[in-house]
Amino acid sequence: CEVPQRAGAPAGTSYTDPMTSGRLTVLAGPTAVGKGSVSAYIREQVPSVWPSVSATTRPPRPGEIDGVHYHFVDDAEFERMLAEGELLEWAVVHGRAKYGTPRGPVLAAIAEGRSPLLEIDLQGARQVRQTMPEALFVFLAPPNWEELVRRLVGRGTESEAERERRLDTARVELAAVREFDVVIVNDDVERAARELVSLMDSPVIE
Ligand code: 5GP
Repeated sequence: CEVPQRAGAPAGTSYTDPMTSGRLTVLAGPTAVGKGSVSAYIREQVPSVWPSVSATTRPPRPGEIDGVHYHFVDDAEFERMLAEGELLEWAVVHGRAKYGTPRGPVLAAIAEGRSPLLEIDLQGARQVRQTMPEALFVFLAPPNWEELVRRLVGRGTESEAERERRLDTARVELAAVREFDVVIVNDDVERAARELVSLMDSPVIE
């Protein structure tokens, strides 16, 4: 698949541009909205985007690879990272596992002129807003509530009780949409991913 080019850029121009490179983007949105699919698409298609790999205490799902989808750690290791200030943000998500963004690799990616993409929950996005307000805050929204429920049930990875817990969190997260700079509706993964990339690739207007 081709990735969209910045308007007016000559063919072959890379996404890394001295004016715009190294800007952190936070992608948040409710459970099952497709944050993972959108960021996987971008990871494969856009080399200048650096997808942050979070640490989590939850166990891997089938097919998830340690160090690629998450750094799967135990509670003691997570607490150590937290105590030593290694996390840019962290949260207990869905009332169960802990999730956090390792700070060092994000700062290193920015220094290298790459654009880190953090796919995190609302609580984490709010923390990043405090420490890095210059970041781009993007909310990925479902086309409607029924579609969100359909996607969550359809992926079949959660128990009934877990689904209910996630939908409760989703209601709270959807109510926070106005805290974000931009809303992208995930009606189609590729279209939503392209919209996100074009935002990440736009000059910062203060
Ligand atoms: P899942 O367990 O389905 O992979 O992720 C559950 C939720 O945790 C998702 O909403 C995801 O965005 C969020 N999440 C993943 N990594 C992080 C992180 O590093 N920090 C925070 N705050 N949330 C995260």
